[in-house]
Amino acid sequence: MELHLYDSWERRVRRFESISPGRVGLYCCGPTVYDYAHIGNLRTYIFEDLLRRTLSFNHYQVQHVVNITDVGHLVSDADEGEDKMEKGSRRSGKSAWEIAAFYSAAFMADFRALNLLEPAVWCRATEYLPEQITFIRTLEEKGYTYRTRDGVYFDTSRQSDYGYLARLDRDALQAGARVALGEKRSHTDFALWKFSPADSRRQMEWDSPWGRGFPGWHIECSAMSAAHLGSWFDIHCGGEDHIAVHHSNEIAQTQACHGTRLANFWMHGYFLQTGSEKMSKSGGDFLRLKSLIERGIDPLAYRYLCLAAHYRSQLEFSWDGLQAAATGLQRLRETYHRWPEGRQIDHVFLNRFRDEINNDLNSSRALTVVWELVRSEIDAAVRKATLRAMDQVLGLDLDNWRPASHEIPEEVETLARQRQAAREMRQWQEADRLRLQIKAHGFLVEDSASGWLLKPDSN
Ligand code: AMP
Ligand code: ZN
Repeated sequence: MELHLYDSWERRVRRFESISPGRVGLYCCGPTVYDYAHIGNLRTYIFEDLLRRTLSFNHYQVQHVVNITDVGHLVSDADEGEDKMEKGSRRSGKSAWEIAAFYSAAFMADFRALNLLEPAVWCRATEYLPEQITFIRTLEEKGYTYRTRDGVYFDTSRQSDYGYLARLDRDALQAGARVALGEKRSHTDFALWKFSPADSRRQMEWDSPWGRGFPGWHIECSAMSAAHLGSWFDIHCGGEDHIAVHHSNEIAQTQACHGTRLANFWMHGYFLQTGSEKMSKSGGDFLRLKSLIERGIDPLAYRYLCLAAHYRSQLEFSWDGLQAAATGLQRLRETYHRWPEGRQIDHVFLNRFRDEINNDLNSSRALTVVWELVRSEIDAAVRKATLRAMDQVLGLDLDNWRPASHEIPEEVETLARQRQAAREMRQWQEADRLRLQIKAHGFLVEDSASGWLLKPDSN
């Protein structure tokens, strides 16, 4: 059983083999905690969770590391503008530390609501200052850095293959760039360490060999991933926007410091779009998981929606699409719960499922196999055991779903419709008989102006 994954470095699907037998090191770029995560961000974490579950399904032991960016992510990718945390602090009146704690907690709550598996390590940038400073010192000793009045920068001209991941043409970029360079030597150079302003104190700042300040965003991920997984590990993930800048810079630093491109596979989740634009935090107009819950949508319906598309294609968000996903999930849950328990698995179906998921995480095709299984003639207990095995990968948490008391089973709805029809034909006895039948299912039916109302019978 081979696993094939798309590697952005080689730009092709290739066979995955772990560096150490049976074990996989997986690093995923985590949230910048100055605001709530939007459902676009969450799409990327759902893709990463699917990857992790697929690796486990293929019997790998996964060391999953996710960082929390709580300092150093500037408003502009060109190393300009304010730190997003300090900006969040100014906006809300809370301290940058309080903001980080608040939005980290909100993020973790979303993470759990989507049934994403907890990583082995959550690492916060502010807790890894010594590692980041040591990294920058090594780069300095090797001659890859220079200083300007506002910080210490990485000199990308030292690497002939800088930006290979994004197939960047540095000369063309340099010639076409319209943003002022300041004291930077090249547009692609990036900050490793930024100095605090001379005339004021930042809330988050540290002493360093170069002066008081804070680390750049890219050095954080290179230093923390290497601290937990070593400087050559299996898979590094993020959203597609990370290819051109963040991941290109992580690779450049690591190449200079350790002589590796950090990870064997670089994998990227594609954007959730709204109205043909990427959903973004800075755009201000974004949907949170809470916005879906407020509309009565189960978070796992959003997970189902994401699974129905391939992670390597952009997904246009629509409420209709989400509603269809919710209906699909609900049908799957109800069917699963009607089936009797069993242990025996149908291996023909499970292998077909594995083939799809092992083909670069083709979850939409895997869902097609799920529905074929549901509609098949196979013994229901076998179907249940087989679907349970598949759900280890899909993470729809079918086992833990229970019909909520306010959810009305299809058959009760049908009885209520029949009773209404009987009433319209003045068949009062039949209407009464149906009312009792509804009661036997644990529901009370009341007549209302718009038809009828069903309520759980609390007696
Ligand atoms: P951030 O918290 O902004 O650093 O982003 C967290 C993760 O979400 C990163 O991996 C981003 O690449 C990813 N991301 C940002 N916007 C979107 C989007 N609209 N759709 C999917 N992923 C996104
Ligand atoms: Zn990162």
